[in-house]
Amino acid sequence: MRRVHCDKCNKEFKIRIRTQKIKDDIERVYFICPKCKKEYTAYYTNDKIKDLQEQIRILRGEYNKLRGKDFKNGYKKLQEITKLQNKIEKEMDILKRLAFYI
Ligand SMILES: [Zn+2]
Repeated sequence: MRRVHCDKCNKEFKIRIRTQKIKDDIERVYFICPKCKKEYTAYYTNDKIKDLQEQIRILRGEYNKLRGKDFKNGYKKLQEITKLQNKIEKEMDILKRLAFYI
């Protein structure tokens, strides 16, 4: 479990992830400082991002099997993973901007 420092009260605490439905399939993933109750948004997600994350999970499994044995195909898997991660990043960025107006 990751530990963080609260910007507001400086308390160190363990992150307990919560999700809040924003609209349609959009969810806000956030955590709260247990002392001063300040909310921190980690990221926004939706069905598309969850689907991409699932694809990455599968690719990682395939990559782990190839690692150290098949350099060429392992390299391909890593490229695919990176592409998907970039897609997720872009999608999260869009949601972040969108959520500002909801
Ligand atoms: Zn705090």
